[in-house]
Amino acid sequence: MASIAKAVEQTLKSGLVRFQAFVNGAWIDAKDRRTFSVTNPADGSHLGDVPDMTTDDARSAIDAAYEAKREWAKRTSKERSGLLRRWFDLVRRNRDDLARIITAEQGKPLNEAKGEVDYGASFIEWYSEEAKRVYGDVLPSVSTSKRLFVLKEPVGVAALITPWNFPFSMVLRKASAALAAGCTAVVKPAEDTPLCALALAKLAEDAGIPAGVYNTITCSRDNVAGVGEMLAASEKIAMVSFTGSTAVGKLLLKHCASNVTKVSMELGGQAAFIVFDSADADAAVEGAANAKFRNAGQACIAANRFLVQEGIHDLFCEKLKVAMEKLFVGNGFEEGVTVGPLINQRAAEKVMAHVTDAISKGGKVLCGGDFHHLGRTFFKPTLLSHCTVDMLPAREETFGPIIPVFKFKTEEEALKMANSTQYGLASYFYSTDFSQIWRVAESLECGVVGVNEGSVTTEVAPFGGVKQSGIGKEGSKYGIEEFLHTKYICMGNIRPGK
Ligand code: NAP
Repeated sequence: MASIAKAVEQTLKSGLVRFQAFVNGAWIDAKDRRTFSVTNPADGSHLGDVPDMTTDDARSAIDAAYEAKREWAKRTSKERSGLLRRWFDLVRRNRDDLARIITAEQGKPLNEAKGEVDYGASFIEWYSEEAKRVYGDVLPSVSTSKRLFVLKEPVGVAALITPWNFPFSMVLRKASAALAAGCTAVVKPAEDTPLCALALAKLAEDAGIPAGVYNTITCSRDNVAGVGEMLAASEKIAMVSFTGSTAVGKLLLKHCASNVTKVSMELGGQAAFIVFDSADADAAVEGAANAKFRNAGQACIAANRFLVQEGIHDLFCEKLKVAMEKLFVGNGFEEGVTVGPLINQRAAEKVMAHVTDAISKGGKVLCGGDFHHLGRTFFKPTLLSHCTVDMLPAREETFGPIIPVFKFKTEEEALKMANSTQYGLASYFYSTDFSQIWRVAESLECGVVGVNEGSVTTEVAPFGGVKQSGIGKEGSKYGIEEFLHTKYICMGNIRPGK
């Protein structure tokens, strides 16, 4: 325990922990001086207070980004690329401090937090390179007197609203693409995890990113509705890139409609994880653990419904139970911990409600099934069999460390169940039947598919959902397009030569 306290103390002393917002190159308080507190979800300890900003503060940040946009867009892509590369180098150099900040305010195990720093950094590196590859086109003309061109231009000011579950990488997945495209940005992180976003603002400042180009404002849940509306409905905002729940995404879409503002929405998920009879059971168990227990199940692409064919069902459950009993629940700073706390008590109570509902409808607990003795934010990794589609985990995103197993007979039945949701973010399946692999991969209604693989995210591949899981892509060559307009130029009256 003393070593945990020391790790948290060391984190707070890091020069990267900032308790002010960053607007127009200055570290500032809310205009009315109000603050809200940031706590460690593992023990509720107080990490510090950050500005509880209002619509008035948000307006100033938007104005700063708007003022800065012309100069930033005029820079050459090579210059923008160089500044992003410096930001990337600083993130890499400060990897350990950044990981400690993630664990302190978000709770995930330190090793996972280091992985999140690497994942986030990969987007700055990728987009520092992509900045130089924003190509236009010269089109074959339909007339000898005309020449036709296509230019790609930055959309303008982007509002970037991010969630608490990946408080570091979600900021970078958006901000790197926005800045590379030539947009300026106003970032609004989640109330639970503002310190990661502020640390990134500090490193952007150190990298020499000009004042006003990259701004970060913070606010509590009391002010978020007003601040969110200000960001989405301002005429100076050209693009809203949001990651979070489908409910808030829909609200922001309504606000964006007022100015027909461009959007990119990364929303909720309900991933199916299907194990067919031909699967390699050990690989499926390993994949299930990857797809479920990262961040204690608090990931949009976390597998939520485990559909297992009757021939492999018992073997898969037995092996999975053994693997789950090796998981180590605890404070993310403790050596060897693989499952940290949930973000807050409300989140753990939701997981408990899902388990209780499943048990009341005939679900059987094979392991776990309750809060962990460490406290009300900790939940035991839980394996439930005999699950049915009327249970809460079949219908809602659980966002916690539970695996509900649904037995099925045929491929058709599994596909019907996998697709019977409003969400369409990710799906996973395990099979060694070549024809089945293509049939199923092509039939799943989602944006990301893991085939015999439970860990799918990378900066080089497009990430994003279909149905109510969202609009648009992040990462890869596709992600930068969200921050660009396509402009057509027709040049006429050219006299053809003889
Ligand atoms: P959330 O409640 O929707 O919050 C996301 C962000 O929106 C936070 O910054 C939040 O601020 C803010 N917000 C809340 N109400 C708002 C409003 N009225 N106007 C503007 N902004 C508002 O979601 P969450 O609980 O943080 O995150 C979990 C959800 O995110 C899950 O559904 C998960 O699947 C989804 N997610 C999706 C992806 C993806 O890539 N598709 C990735 C990660 C997470 P406060 O914190 O102050 O409420």
